[in-house]
Amino acid sequence: MGLLNFLISKSIMYIPGPIVGLFAKSYIAGPNLYDAVRVTHELNNKNIMATIDILGEFISTKDEAKYYKERCIEILDTIDKEGLDANLSLKPTQMGLLLDKSFAFDNIREIVAHAKSLNNFVRIDMEDSPCTDDTLEFYRKLREEFPGHVGTVLQSYLRRTPDDILKLADGPMNFRLCKGIYNEPRKIAYKDPYIVNRNYTYSLELLLKNRAYVGIATHDEKLVFEALRLIEKYDYKKDEYEFQMLLGVDEELRDIIVSAGHRLRVYVPFGKDWLPYSRRRLKENPNIGRHALRQLFGI
Ligand code: FAD
Repeated sequence: MGLLNFLISKSIMYIPGPIVGLFAKSYIAGPNLYDAVRVTHELNNKNIMATIDILGEFISTKDEAKYYKERCIEILDTIDKEGLDANLSLKPTQMGLLLDKSFAFDNIREIVAHAKSLNNFVRIDMEDSPCTDDTLEFYRKLREEFPGHVGTVLQSYLRRTPDDILKLADGPMNFRLCKGIYNEPRKIAYKDPYIVNRNYTYSLELLLKNRAYVGIATHDEKLVFEALRLIEKYDYKKDEYEFQMLLGVDEELRDIIVSAGHRLRVYVPFGKDWLPYSRRRLKENPNIGRHALRQLFGI
């Protein structure tokens, strides 16, 4: 990591919002649902699916959770009305998980029931490790009641992930598999990128062996390569898996995957609460901030 990247990643929490906003543009559809609809139409025109996410996490009141629940329902209705090839992603803490577990479950349940009524699908994002057990428990209950309309996420940096797969293999499985984005203690999470990748491939193989539907969420071409090999090995048809990528990240790799005939879904976040999401993206890849700073200061 160069000095500028190092400084960006260390000082990310102190970089003023307007500067973060400079690079946020490529990662976020815009402040309004209308922006997500526009971006999703553009993606659909390129034969790419979307999952729409309203930004806002770690809220502090039940009213905020209710607000986000209503917005999620509005997103599902809008997807339906606009005829978009898209589903919804939501975060359990946005639904009140850290305030009241059963209240959060009821909120998510209502959204999934609504998705079912529109023949759509809800992906429950995975947040940091204090949320893992509850999120998997919600998923287990909801997949029984609404099979085919709900899925969640597994993170390959967590040591527990292969065990979680085996525990959940007693029913139909629908998972997004990603590396994981939060800063977790070594006790529970692998820190070495090589092992995180090995655990990714190992977990993906376990999922495919158990005929899970997997959203292969990565921009790491090494993992895409391994995934293609495993898809072939387990004789998966094109509609039995999908690749997933974040908006604005490695569009070249995205186009290569789509041109080869694989289904691919882009995560389309929108909303006024874009700052924490953008700071995370910038911390993850300071190169983006570097481009923005170069433009700004001519570095
Ligand atoms: P990396 O090795 O991190 O990246 C591979 C290459 O892609 C690198 O060259 C890197 O520069 C580039 N790259 C990666 N990310 C970015 C970026 N943001 N900006 C610019 N370049 C980048 N994590 C969770 O913990 N929970 C979730 O629910 C969750 N949902 C996700 C949904 C989708 C659709 C995707 C794609 C990711 C999601 N993630 C989630 C994030 C994920 O865990 C990783 O942190 C992230 O995808 C980076 O890992 P990677 O596999 O792309 O590999």
